Amino acid sequence: MKWWALLVAKIVCLIAMHIVLILWINSFFPKDQMGRDLAYTFSLMGADMFLFVVGYGFWMDQKYRCRTCLRILRMPLEKGNWSHATLFAPPKLEWICPFGHGTMRQDEIHLSGAQPDSWHKNDDNFWRAFEDAWKKD
Ligand SMILES: [Zn+2]
Repeated sequence: MKWWALLVAKIVCLIAMHIVLILWINSFFPKDQMGRDLAYTFSLMGADMFLFVVGYGFWMDQKYRCRTCLRILRMPLEKGNWSHATLFAPPKLEWICPFGHGTMRQDEIHLSGAQPDSWHKNDDNFWRAFEDAWKKD
């Protein structure tokens, strides 16, 4: 729930930044100049590109946060094997919350389109999440 609240807060912040930026740009130009004044049109385009970059940064920050406590996920762990990448042990990357709330798994190879990252909530035993990683392949 906290994760979704933070995402909504970031989206609201992005919309507010967009409104402020558009109002600031409009203060320098007369009305209805879209498509007529090149400087106005390019400044709006630059503002939208800036907000796209900021939004991408917001999403990348959001993606690597714990779904429970919002801390940044740590300890990336390689799993799988690149030599058997196609069938048996596709390479994956696991990120874990420093307080053990959960694990995010990312596929590093995408054979049939982009695979979404998966979030697995851990039980009370924090170290159980690492047991598979300690096994020798
Ligand atoms: Zn956590």
